[in-house]
Amino acid sequence: MSRFRMCPTAEQQAALLEHCRHARHVWNLALEQWLMWTRDKPPTPGYVEQARQLTEARAVFGWLRAGSQTVQQQALRDFDQAVRYFYAGTHRRPTWRKAGRHEGFRIVGTQASRVENLNRTWARVLVPKVGWIRFRLSRAISDAKSYRITRDGAGRWHIAFAVIPAPIPAPGTGEVVGVDRGVTVSAALSTGELLSCPGLSETEQDRLKHLQRRLARCRRRSNRRQRVMAAIARLHARGADRRKNWVERTSTDLARRYDVIRVEDLRIPQMIRRPKPKPDPERSGAHLPNRRRAKAGLNRGILANGWGHLVRRLEDKATGRVQKVNPAYTSQTCSVCGHRASENRESQAVFRCVACGHQANADVNAAVNIAAGRAVSARQETPPRVSPKREPQLATSA
Ligand SMILES: [Zn+2]
Repeated sequence: MSRFRMCPTAEQQAALLEHCRHARHVWNLALEQWLMWTRDKPPTPGYVEQARQLTEARAVFGWLRAGSQTVQQQALRDFDQAVRYFYAGTHRRPTWRKAGRHEGFRIVGTQASRVENLNRTWARVLVPKVGWIRFRLSRAISDAKSYRITRDGAGRWHIAFAVIPAPIPAPGTGEVVGVDRGVTVSAALSTGELLSCPGLSETEQDRLKHLQRRLARCRRRSNRRQRVMAAIARLHARGADRRKNWVERTSTDLARRYDVIRVEDLRIPQMIRRPKPKPDPERSGAHLPNRRRAKAGLNRGILANGWGHLVRRLEDKATGRVQKVNPAYTSQTCSVCGHRASENRESQAVFRCVACGHQANADVNAAVNIAAGRAVSARQETPPRVSPKREPQLATSA
C-alpha cells in the first residue's frame, strides 16, 4: 500500500464527501441486512442480489442516483469481502460505518488506472464524477489495481494504492517451515523463532488511555472533541503502520528462506458464528463490557487482522508455496512422539508431553506440528493414531 496526501479544492472536497456518504450508506444497508438474518430465514442476500437492490434503491432515492454507481457498487463488494474475511476467521466482524470516523471509498479496475504524473512532485487522479485531483508524489507509484480515498479525523485527504507485490523466487533448499498464530506471541515458527508484531509502546498506550478519558469528558460536537479524536486517530494510525511494516518484512523474509510455508487453515466451522446486533456503546453505557475484557477483545482482533494480512501477503510473495493445514489438535499433540492429550498443555505458554516428557514453548510445538502437516492426519483419522493405553483420557474438546 502506498499512500499519498491529496490536495482537493474546496469544491472537490464536497464532492468527495458525498462519495464517502454514499459508500457509508450502502455499506450500512448491507450490514443491516446481514444482521437481520436468522437461521430460519433463507440465506442473507449475496453481492448479486444486493447489487440488484442497489439499482432499485437508486431508482427511488434521487440523492443516491446523483452519486457514482461505481462508488456505491464497490462499497457493496467491499462489504461482501469483509463478510467473507470474517467467516474465514482472519478479520473481525464488519461494523457500522460512522460519519466523521469512516470517511472513505474505493475505486477498482480500469477506473483506478486513470493516474498521471504531472512532474516530479505532483500527480493527479481522475475520480469518477469529481474530476482530476492533484496529490503529492512522495515516492513512485507502481501499477495499481485499485485505490482507496480517505479523509482522516483531522480533515486530511489521502489516496492509497493497493499494490500487489512481485512473487519472490523459492530458495530451492526444499526446506519447510510451519507458522503458528501464537497465543503468547504474534507468530511462532517451527524453527523455534518467536515473532512479535509491534504495536504501540507503553508510553503511547498510556497516552491513548489518557486521550480516551479526555474524550469521554468532551462535549459532543465541540472543537475540543474533534482535536482529541484526531489525536487518537493519529496514534491508531501509527500502530497500524508498524503492524503493516512488520507483515511486509516477515512475509518477505519467510518467502526468501523457505520453499514451503505451512500455516493453519482458519476456515474451520467453530469460527463461524452468527453476528449478534450489538447496542451502540456511544449511546448507552449499560452494555459496556468491562475494561479488561474489552481490551483483550481488541488485542485479539488486532492479532486476527495481522494474521490475515500475513497469510495473504505470504500467498502474494510465495505464490503456490503456501499450504494451509487444518489446525485441529496442533496445540495438544506432542511434536516429538505424537501423543495427543489436553493435559499436554501445561499452561497457555508451556507444552509438556505427559507421555514422553518433551517440553517446549506451546506455540513452537504447534508450529512444528503444522510444518509436519500432522494436523491433517489427526482430522482424517478419528480416533487419532494414539494407542488408548497411552492416553488415559481421550480429549474430546479441540
Ligand atoms: Zn511426547
